[in-house]
Amino acid sequence: MSKPVNTIVVVGAGTMGSGIALTAAQSGIRAIQIDLSAAQLDKARGYHTKQLARLVEKQKLTEQQAKEAQSRLSYGSDFASLSEVDCVIEAASENPEVKKSLFRSFAGAFAADTLLATNTSSISITDIATAAGGRASQVIGMHFFNPVPVMKLVEVIRGIATSDETLARTLDLARAMGKTPVPANDRAGFVSNRVLMPLINEAFYTWMEGVAKPEDIDQILVLGCNFPMGPLRLADFIGLDVCHDIMMVLYRELGDPKFFPCPILRQLVSAGRLGNKSNRGVFEYPSK
Ligand code: NAD
Repeated sequence: MSKPVNTIVVVGAGTMGSGIALTAAQSGIRAIQIDLSAAQLDKARGYHTKQLARLVEKQKLTEQQAKEAQSRLSYGSDFASLSEVDCVIEAASENPEVKKSLFRSFAGAFAADTLLATNTSSISITDIATAAGGRASQVIGMHFFNPVPVMKLVEVIRGIATSDETLARTLDLARAMGKTPVPANDRAGFVSNRVLMPLINEAFYTWMEGVAKPEDIDQILVLGCNFPMGPLRLADFIGLDVCHDIMMVLYRELGDPKFFPCPILRQLVSAGRLGNKSNRGVFEYPSK
């Protein structure tokens, strides 16, 4: 049995980071949510309160359990003073420079046995680990899916230097959070996004070429292929900026033009139409 994880720091309080922190807290793990943006931290706190209240309403949690989960969550803008943590999960923007700069800081900030995980969707774990210097053996990919509290999969990716001990602790942590870890090798996009992003990109081209309207493209794949959600709605749900950034990593790393983001996707991102998180992407999502 590997050393258990009792306290985690989650860096990034967006779509994924807020879900990871909530899932950890519900699993009995203390979670400290960090973000540069006070607005994002407020949004994450509101999301946590609302989700826990909903679970009580649906009788999936008792009032006491919700209160305990809430008490395990805390929020801050800086991780520098938080040395005594078992694990940090980085869920900041999908940008290699942002991630490397964070891992450079993690190596100096956290105790020597802290697990250094990244929720990257596509960026090489080996590359991110170079920024952690002598701590590269503790760096690992822990790729959760959206929405984190619901989706069972964690894609687990070892970098070239990741140790067996780091892998064992990560598998235990994923299971302790109620997830099913599945391994993938360290190639851009791993398995999930290597397969999913070309499908989403092609749906944008199909729309751009006027083959069908967005709602019809989605309905064809839902009714004809038994997808739970069409690819364009899924892109809005993931975040069009996140899809764009993942496609750029795939394009740069694998060198195949099929991964280059479709012009209409790039245009929506430039216009700030990012999907559910900005209330408008391919489709509109009136704020509740
Ligand atoms: P998001 O845009 O919703 O949130 C990113 C957050 O990171 C923002 O709140 C931003 O303020 C914060 N941030 C940026 N730089 C920071 C820094 N230096 N320090 C602290 N906080 C910082 O993005 P997201 O959808 O939550 O994606 C986060 C990561 O998870 C990305 O690597 C993405 O590829 C990956 N991911 C996303 C999905 C998805 O469906 N959206 C699924 C799996 C993995």
